[in-house]
Parts: sequence; structure tokens; C-alpha cells
Amino acid sequence: MASPVGHGLMGVALYAASVPRRRAMHAWGWLALCVGFSILPDFDFVVPAAAGRIDWAHTMHRSLTHTVFFAVGVALVWFVVARIVKPHSRAARVGVAAMIFAALVAHIALDMMNEDTKAPYGVSIFWPVWDKSFYAPIGVLPRIEKLTYADIVSLHNVGVALTELGLFGGLILVVVGVRLAVERLRARRRAGAAAVEAGGHMS
Ligand SMILES: [Zn+2]
Repeated sequence: MASPVGHGLMGVALYAASVPRRRAMHAWGWLALCVGFSILPDFDFVVPAAAGRIDWAHTMHRSLTHTVFFAVGVALVWFVVARIVKPHSRAARVGVAAMIFAALVAHIALDMMNEDTKAPYGVSIFWPVWDKSFYAPIGVLPRIEKLTYADIVSLHNVGVALTELGLFGGLILVVVGVRLAVERLRARRRAGAAAVEAGGHMS
């Protein structure tokens, strides 16, 4: 698994790519949604480990919460609840459900790109229907150590978190840069179209 720093920053990248112009919710709410659901699947490790059962954490980790069924299920549950409560328009409800799905899938994708030096390798994304593990042929993200509590707070893991900070910080800058360039291009096109229209009225 990537560390919560890596997953959280991936959530920030999703936020930067998607924060809508006409927002379904306040920008901070959208940010919390992107980051929260990007980290959520690792609660299968965090909750038992925090309860003092790291052995359970290792057994439970990367099971149900790391599957496409979980991603679809959580997005659907949100959509159904939002439909009953009606906090936003239909388009906004679809947008939030899509973001929940995207954040959960991004989490799984990152875990598949982790360096795996010990079993279990990869992620069984179709568990329990199909127990096959999927993983990238080359580990792109460094592996965090989590066998014991001492491993979790080790210097190695601090180094991993700093590496992720560099990698995902770069990704966020690229996303923001692309988005600004696209918005500038759109504004220029709109200004050009407005100028042509004004010229048409004058002639
Ligand atoms: Zn994970």
C-alpha cells in the first residue's frame, strides 16, 4: 500500500482536476470528499491496527475495501441516500457519486503500482468473486513497512512519505498547470467569439 500521504495527495490531485465551476458543495467539502475517499480503503488496516490488533490488520488488509465492488457499492449507496435526502441537483449528485468512485479506484490503482517484496502481492480487485491478484509489472511507488508497530513509525516509512510528497506534489502541479492552460484557452476562444459577434452587429 502507498502511505496515507500518497493516497491523500492523490485525492488533492483529483480535487485539482475536478473542482467544478458550479460547485455541488463548498470547495473545502469537495476537497474533503476527494481526500477522504482516496484514503478510505486503508481503514481495513488502520482500524484494527489502532485497536491493537495488527494481526487482524494484516489478515483484513486489501480485501473487500480494495475491490471494484466496494467502489461501485459506496458510490451507489451515496447516490441513493442523496436521492432521498436531495442535498443537491441530480447532476451534482451524479458528479459526487462519480468522484467517490474515481477516488476509490485511484486508491486501488496506486496500491497496484506499489513495490511488493513480500506476499500478498498486488490487489485482488474482484475479490471474493475472482481471487486473482493484479499488479503493475514494475513497482513504481516504494513499499511501506507495516509488519509491526515499530515498522509503521520507522525512518524507512518517513522516507517513503517524503518520496510520495515529491511525486504527488509534482503530479498536482502538472494537473493545476494543465487546468489553468485549458481555462486560459477557453477564455481566449470566448473572447474571440464575442469579438466576432460584436463585429457582426456593427457591420
Ligand atoms: Zn490500500
